[in-house]
Amino acid sequence: MTSKNWIRRDFLKLSTSLVTAPAFLSACETNAQNSAQSAGRKPIIISTWNHGLDANKVGWEILSTSGSALDAVEKGVMVVESDPKVQTVGLGGFPDREGNVTLDACIMKGDGGCGSVAFLKGIKNPIAVARKVMEETPHIMLVGDGAKKFALAQGFKEENLLTEASKKRYEEWLQKADYKPQINIENHDTISTLALDAAGNLAGACTTSGAAWKMYGRVGDSPLIAAGLFVDDEVGAACATGLGEAVIRTAGSAMVVEMMRQGKSPSEACIEVVERIRRKHKTLKDLQVGFLALNKDGNFGAYSIHKDFTYAVSTDDGHVMDMAPSLFE
Ligand code: ASP
Repeated sequence: MTSKNWIRRDFLKLSTSLVTAPAFLSACETNAQNSAQSAGRKPIIISTWNHGLDANKVGWEILSTSGSALDAVEKGVMVVESDPKVQTVGLGGFPDREGNVTLDACIMKGDGGCGSVAFLKGIKNPIAVARKVMEETPHIMLVGDGAKKFALAQGFKEENLLTEASKKRYEEWLQKADYKPQINIENHDTISTLALDAAGNLAGACTTSGAAWKMYGRVGDSPLIAAGLFVDDEVGAACATGLGEAVIRTAGSAMVVEMMRQGKSPSEACIEVVERIRRKHKTLKDLQVGFLALNKDGNFGAYSIHKDFTYAVSTDDGHVMDMAPSLFE
C-alpha cells in the first residue's frame, strides 16, 4: 500500500479544497532543482509520515488564521502524541527492552529559541514540556527525572503510557529478544514538523518514543537540537526521522540548514546529508533516515535512504501527501 501512485491518488482525495497537484507541488523540488527557480508557499506546514497529515490539519487551522508557526507545530504534533494508535510517539509508544515508555522531543523557533526533553516517562505530550523548558527556564534541555519533576510542577498530568496493544507487541518481542534497532523497518516513526507562518517566522517540532526495544536510557536524535531538528529564520528549517544514531553522527538537521545557507535548494541539501550518512556507514541495508527541509521562502524538499518515506504538506491549496525520493528505490 505504499506505492507512490497509491499515495498520490489516495491523499489527493484528502484535500480540503480544490487542489491541482502540479501547482501545489511546484514548491517541492523533488528533483533537486534550484529553489530560486520556484515560488515558495506561505504559510505552509510539512510533517513526516502518514500521521503527519493529522498534525498538519491541526497546524493548518492555526496557520490559516494568522497563528504562529510555533503554535502550529506544537499543537499539530500533540495530536499525534495523544493518539494511542500511533505506536512510535507519545501515548502508546513502544517501550524499551525493559518495558518502559520513554519519550524524547524538542521544539525550535527561527530566532534560535529552543527547548528539549529526553528520557521522559509518564507524560504523554513531551513537546509541550519542551516548549515550557524553552519559555520558563534558562536552560534548553531537561532529561529523565528532572524533566518529569519539571513537567509535574508545570501542571502536566502523569499517566501510564504503555497501552495494551504496545504491551502485547513488547511481550511478543520478548519471546524473540533479538534486539536490532532497525528503524522504519521493524518500527517507526518520529513525527517531525516544520512550519512557516504568514509573518515569515519559522518553527519546528520533533517528538518520538524512539527506537522500539531500545536499551534503557537510550536517547536518539529527536530531542537533540541540530540532530533531529534545526531552525534558523535567516535560512530555513530541517528535521529528521529514522535511525537517530546515524542522524547524530552527521549533525543531520543543522547540516541540512547549513547546506541551504550555502546556496543549496532544500532538496539538494537533504540529498547532500544523506550522502554523508552513506559515506559514514559500511552498509545501509537496515538503515533508514529521512530529512525534510523548508526554506524561508516556503520551498521544501525531502529525501531518504530507502523508499517509502512519506510526508504531508499543507498550504492554502489543501493537504497533500507525497513520498520522498530516495537513494534506493
Ligand atoms: N529518530 C528516532 C530515534 O532514533 C526514531 C524514528 O524517527 O523513527 O529515536
